[in-house]
Parts: sequence; structure tokens; C-alpha cells
Amino acid sequence: MISVKEAFSTILENVPGLAAEDCELEQAVGRTLRQPVCADRDLPPYDRVMMDGIAARAEAFAHGGPVRLRIRGHQPAGAPSQTLDDPAECLEVATGAVRPQQADLIIPVEQITVADGVAEVSEVYEAIPMRYVHGTGSDCKAGEQLLAKGDVLGAKEIAVAASCGEAVVQVSVRPQVAIVSTGDELVDVNQAPLPHQIRRSNSHSLAAALEVSGLGVAQLAHFPDDLDPVREGLGRVLPGAEVLILSGGVSKGRKDYLPGALAELGVQKVFHWVAQRPGKPFWFGVGPDGQPVFALPGNPLSALTCFHRYVAPALRSMAGQPLREPLEHALARAYAFKPPLTCFLPVRLENADGAVQAVPDPAGNSGDFAGILGTDGFVELPAEPAEFAAGETVPFWPWL
Ligand code: AMP
Ligand code: MG
Repeated sequence: MISVKEAFSTILENVPGLAAEDCELEQAVGRTLRQPVCADRDLPPYDRVMMDGIAARAEAFAHGGPVRLRIRGHQPAGAPSQTLDDPAECLEVATGAVRPQQADLIIPVEQITVADGVAEVSEVYEAIPMRYVHGTGSDCKAGEQLLAKGDVLGAKEIAVAASCGEAVVQVSVRPQVAIVSTGDELVDVNQAPLPHQIRRSNSHSLAAALEVSGLGVAQLAHFPDDLDPVREGLGRVLPGAEVLILSGGVSKGRKDYLPGALAELGVQKVFHWVAQRPGKPFWFGVGPDGQPVFALPGNPLSALTCFHRYVAPALRSMAGQPLREPLEHALARAYAFKPPLTCFLPVRLENADGAVQAVPDPAGNSGDFAGILGTDGFVELPAEPAEFAAGETVPFWPWL
């Protein structure tokens, strides 16, 4: 049986990189960049007026006393720069307009009174040149790299790509992920279960995690607990899948046929059994086309925990994202458990005196999702020392 850390690093060594493709920017949210994005011009590209008001020349304020300026015209946003030649005049300006040439002062509209085409400037106005102006290139200079390969395109990255004119970006493909559940006791969500049956939930939960993370496109299948249908079904699913996630049927039960069926289909086992609770029967292998095969234990909490601890980070790595260490949070109270297995403990995050604390909220058992509904994720507690004091910081993995 291998440790959590060994299992994770072994997976990362065995997953292939994904291909890259061009993607229209509107479709690219959540995708992983495969190209850098550089500023194609200075940002902002011109001295940008920050306030609605008037633009004037500092000379007009050189002599003290009330300042009155004739309004010569209007410099709206989106119009080429005008020139203010006469210090006795001003131009109305709008937020986002180009600063008129020779006008080094912007006077906010709140600080002027306008009558008969003349703006009188309030006595409290301080004439500080270039105040209320975003200078050309003050955000960044042309050519500067703003986004890197491996960045995930969220709202702010999309904004940057758009302002740099990247209508089409190169991103990692979203892999086809086959999610296969097994179990004779499991019926579909729209079927009425008999007294000895339950509805299957893992495949829906894993598909949802894929959907919200944008890490893959899910296709669902279900097979009964018999060698022939498992082998045939997997044989059909495997060639089209870039990643295979199975749930159930990998433990020591008489009808746990998955490891045998996978071997017959040419899936190479890399490891089976990990020193962790929940999720000890976790099996990992590599398919004939190099596709990673994650066979998760069927218990819903085990499957979801293994997905978050191993599968999601592996998919991020395949997409080209750099490895992210988990955040660490302080335990709100002491927690002890039975060694020798690493404990994945569901927690709620709470504010305590301005810091985030992880409040242990162990699920009653790993047989249902209901027990973890109020939790935000889980912490990883290594079997050594198996006793943690309140306030100790531990790695936290959020639910997607
Ligand atoms: P297994 O790993 O096949 O031994 O299953 C362990 C437990 O998880 C059993 O109680 C199963 O009924 C349950 N289980 C397996 N697959 C699913 C699923 N897709 N949805 C909900 N429960 C499941
Ligand atoms: Mg089963």
C-alpha cells in the first residue's frame, strides 16, 4: 500500500499533457492558456481622463483669486485629442477621454459652477498637474507579458486578453472524460428504486465537479457487477476516452470485477490501495492509448475525496497548469484518529478573530453525500502523528 504523497506524485508522472487548440475568447472561460498574452500597446494607450469635468492649463491658477474659464468645447470619450491653446479657456471632458493637449489640469465637475458658458472653479480646488489622469502606459508598457502559459482564464484574465486584442486564444483541449459507475444495487436517478436498491449519485457528482471546474467533458455509463458486461462495456468506452473515471467495484468483494476487466483490456495497473481513509481501495492505471484510468472506491465520500485530492489536480496538470500547493488552515479544535491511514476530514471554514479556521465536521460514514452538505472541503491529516492540537495548520482541499 502506498502513501497519499507517493500516490499523487506517481499519478502526476503518468498523466499525459493535453493537446492545444484555438478558441474564441467568448468560449474560453475556465480554459487553460497555452500561449503568453502580451500588451500590444501601452495601457492605457493615451493619457486618460479619470473624472467628468473640465480640462484647463495650470498657468490659469498662477495668480491666485477666483478662476473663471471660458468653455471652448467638449472633449468626449472616443474622440481624438483637441488642443487647449488659450489658458483663459477650458474644455469639458468626460471620464475615459483623451487628455486634451496642453491641458495639464483636470477639474472635477463637483468643483466647478457653470453659467453663461463660463466655468468658475471652487476655491478649495488644488491645482495639481496630472492629478485625475491615468498616464499613458501607467498600467503596463507595450510588449509586457501579462498572462502566462498555464494561467486559467477567469473574468480578469479574459478582460486582459480582450484589451490586448486576443480574439482567439490557444488553450488546452477539454478532455473527453468517461465516468463509469458499477453496481447491481444502483439505479438511475429517474428510476424508482426497489427496497434493496439505491439511486446512483457518484457519476452525477463527478460530472458536476468536472462541469464547474471546466476540466473535462463528461460522458456517463453504468455497468452491472458481472465480468462480461463490465469487460464489454469498458471495451466500448475506453477507445473514445482521454480519461476514465470509474466508481465502485475495486475493493475485495466477490463481485468487484474492475481490476480484472481492466487488465484484460490492456490497462496497466500502476497502483492499488492507498494508505488513506476514506478511499483506501483507490486503483490507478494507464490505458492502451496512454489514458489515465482512475478507479475510485464506490462510497460516495471516498469517490468525491479521491476526485478532489487526485483526479482534479491531475487534470489541471494535464491541461498545463502549474501545481498549486493547497492552502493551510488552522484546526478549530483538537482532532485525533486511528493510525496508520492518512485521514481526510471534512471541515467547515469559519472566521475566528479575522483568521480562517477549519472546523472538523466528520461525516457519519462515507456512504452518503448528505453528511457533508454543510462542509467546504476536507483537511489532510497524515497518520503520523494522528493527533492534532487546536490551532495546528493543515492542508485544506476545497470541494469544487
Ligand atoms: P463498492 O466500492 O462497489 O464496494 O461500493 C461501496 C459502496 O458505495 C456501496 O455501498 C455502494 O452501494 C456505494 N456506491 C457505489 N457506487 C455508487 C454510486 N455510483 N452512487 C452511489 N453509491 C455508490
Ligand atoms: Mg459495488
